[in-house]
Amino acid sequence: MYERKDLLGLRDLSGEEIMTILNTAREMKAKIDDPSLRDNSLEKSSIVTLFYENSTRTKMSFLLAGDYQGAIVKDLGVGTSSVQKGESLVDTGLTLDQMGINIMIIRHRMTGAAHLLARNVKASVINAGDGSNEHPTQALLDLYTILERKGGFKGLKVVILGDISHSRVARSNAFGLTKLGAKVTLAGPSTLVSSSMRSLGVEVATDIPKAIKDADVVMGLRIQFERQKNMPFPSLREYSSLFGVNDETLKYAKKDCLVMHPGPVNRGIELSSEVIDGANSVINVQVKNGVAVRMAILKLLTENRR
Ligand code: ASP
Repeated sequence: MYERKDLLGLRDLSGEEIMTILNTAREMKAKIDDPSLRDNSLEKSSIVTLFYENSTRTKMSFLLAGDYQGAIVKDLGVGTSSVQKGESLVDTGLTLDQMGINIMIIRHRMTGAAHLLARNVKASVINAGDGSNEHPTQALLDLYTILERKGGFKGLKVVILGDISHSRVARSNAFGLTKLGAKVTLAGPSTLVSSSMRSLGVEVATDIPKAIKDADVVMGLRIQFERQKNMPFPSLREYSSLFGVNDETLKYAKKDCLVMHPGPVNRGIELSSEVIDGANSVINVQVKNGVAVRMAILKLLTENRR
């Protein structure tokens, strides 16, 4: 069951709520490729995306997830809105509430922005990424991809690798994966992964071949320069040779290990091109599953409002 008004993060969700979303996503997936299966079940729902940070995959897949179910879907276009005249987030939300919006999907650089909006508007709020805090729909699509390919989570070794400290994707995945019984290792240079993260119930590692040994899933992350004041390592070349994943490093993982990445990928930095395009990679599958998971979330939140 998923009976909440909003979807703000995986930290507070139960394993059962997560599985409800993943099972609903399974029903949605066929509708992406076969338009004859689509229905207009969300035709009375009005959805808006409010992206204060850039996005390709998350925003586009939410827009399509609404369209594929017959909803009215609009993008606010934050860069050309009254936000640029200084209008606050809450006032923007209250304005959209008055216009009859039922679901607001927000991405913001500030931790807690989605929670603030959710407390103040009647609409349901979906967190599409708040600073370095959480990106629940990304983690849900990652979980869905793992479930589809591995059949479950119990005992799987999942290594998340790269700029952990600034990654909302790593945090949401750590919350979700540990709840469902996977063993998670967060790995990267010591300037980008702190041992205090063990409090999330995960292992922390800085030696990449050792961390990757026998992994079932290796997830690369982008270095989030936009959230850093200083360069956290001497050069990109040094970073990719010590912490990047290539065909050689991948040999330490299990043969059928999944290679994942939330995108956008910096080819040759966190993952080599052979690994991105190689047989273990499910990066493109993640993109399709992102639409299915977001269709599921829009459906569940709409049903809760009826
Ligand atoms: N797309 C993901 C995010 O918005 C990952 C990234 O940008 O590197 O957090």
